[in-house]
Amino acid sequence: MLTEVQGIIISETNYGETSKIINIITKDGIIGAIAKGSKGLKSPLRSYTQKFTFGNFWVYKKENKLSIIKSVDVINELSNIKKDIVLISYLSYISDLTHQIMKQTGETELYNIYIDSILKINEGLNPIVICNIFELKALDYLGVGINLHSCSKCDICTDIITIDPDIGGYLCKKCYTNEIIYDEKTIKMLRMYYLVEISTISDLKISKEVINNINKFINTYYDRYTGLYLKSKKFLEEITNQTD
Ligand SMILES: [Zn+2]
Repeated sequence: MLTEVQGIIISETNYGETSKIINIITKDGIIGAIAKGSKGLKSPLRSYTQKFTFGNFWVYKKENKLSIIKSVDVINELSNIKKDIVLISYLSYISDLTHQIMKQTGETELYNIYIDSILKINEGLNPIVICNIFELKALDYLGVGINLHSCSKCDICTDIITIDPDIGGYLCKKCYTNEIIYDEKTIKMLRMYYLVEISTISDLKISKEVINNINKFINTYYDRYTGLYLKSKKFLEEITNQTD
């Protein structure tokens, strides 16, 4: 049956002389599909079956087999991302993370957050902030969400003094020992990141210090709690260190 599904191509591999197999992150999960003849110079599929094509895919879906791509309507060229190696690295990492979570959990709800994040980065919003917002929201799907409601040690809501990635979130005055004290702005902003709907963000007025604090917090938290090791993350860290 021919069906239309929205998604982004996350990988392409050669298949035979003239065809490719592509993997697409879609609203319905990851789809593997053959793009027949797509390596041919005159194939209408040629330019629309490349990595990070975002579009509506017309596919013949097959149970337990590779689907077949019929045609593709591009939704957004993502041209601002594609001309910047740093932004491409963010796109790679966020796509990789989405792929891993969908694969591990079968969760597809993350799709909308994924697309919203990519579009905001393409619109020119700070990729560190958008990526961190995405990562923070993604933690819930991994089952290791940050505690931003009460003290992570004693569960008492009042007198929150800082946040700590090793403890798992908020920390109160009573439980404090020698953790780094983050300023109130950082603590508030972390909660804003978690609550904000990505599609509604139009501009970001956040100080560099707060952005860096939160980025560091989330990186440590990911290392500590997710068990994920993604090459695309490593590459992103290397490339952003170089351009700092
Ligand atoms: Zn406490």
